[in-house]
Amino acid sequence: MTTTPNDGFAGKVAFVTGATSGIGRATALAFARAGAAVTVADLSQDGVRETARLIEEAGGRVVAVRCDVSNAEDVRAALATTADTFGRLDFAFNNAGVEQLVMPAADIADEDFDRTVAVNLRGVFLCMKHQVPLMLKGGGGAIVNTSSGAGVKGFAGQAAYAATKHGVIGMTKSAALDYAKDGIRINAICPGIIDTPMMQRFTGGTPEGVARVVAQEPVGRMGKPEEIAAAVLFLCSEPGAFVVGHAMVVDGGQTVG
Ligand code: NAD
Repeated sequence: MTTTPNDGFAGKVAFVTGATSGIGRATALAFARAGAAVTVADLSQDGVRETARLIEEAGGRVVAVRCDVSNAEDVRAALATTADTFGRLDFAFNNAGVEQLVMPAADIADEDFDRTVAVNLRGVFLCMKHQVPLMLKGGGGAIVNTSSGAGVKGFAGQAAYAATKHGVIGMTKSAALDYAKDGIRINAICPGIIDTPMMQRFTGGTPEGVARVVAQEPVGRMGKPEEIAAAVLFLCSEPGAFVVGHAMVVDGGQTVG
């Protein structure tokens, strides 16, 4: 029998942040469809309830938790709820993130810089901090942290955002070395231009705004959240077992040239 990237999720438990929207919701649904029970965590209480409803509708097991990933107590409580509800943790997708307004570096307000770092970088750190002990207890696991094309390349007007996304890759690679021998694989995903509410805010939802970002994509279209979800599941899967500390670019060729 051949093994596919969607084998091996039944009976396992996944934890997804930013699970109310875009890439996070698509990935939470993908974990559930592959057979994993899922904790969906997000700032938006109504949003996580709706994601949970979609998962239950698809026949999955889910718990919804309101959680600000930049808040240590929220993150601790969300992982404690996961352990109490499902008894283990096998996979984590640390994906919650915020964009920055496009502006030159010196124009970024101090508090906007700090908020971007708090969510995109400290949030990933706090999540891993509370996920790793649960995975060690269970004998291993896989963590995927969301970086970006802005994690492997500079973009004008994106100094704060790119700093956090480059930081996610450095943190991922270092933490991957810390836990490789313990059977916890830690990788990052670097999406290109993906059609989500974040990207709709970035383009302003206008045909000109969409054309401007699609022009960056050699494939001539935006990616779909489900295309990122598929890569995340691969990184968590048995066929991905030898992938450690990798920043996987899934971007239609955006950052190749
Ligand atoms: P989105 O705005 O559609 O979804 C982001 C989610 O994160 C939302 O559900 C939001 O409520 C949640 N969130 C924000 N702050 C939070 C906090 N403090 N605590 C908990 N949840 C919080 O965005 P998306 O496009 O789905 O992006 C998901 C991730 O992918 C982000 O990290 C983003 O930086 C990254 N990314 C997106 C793209 C893209 O083109 N859409 C490209 C590269 C990287």
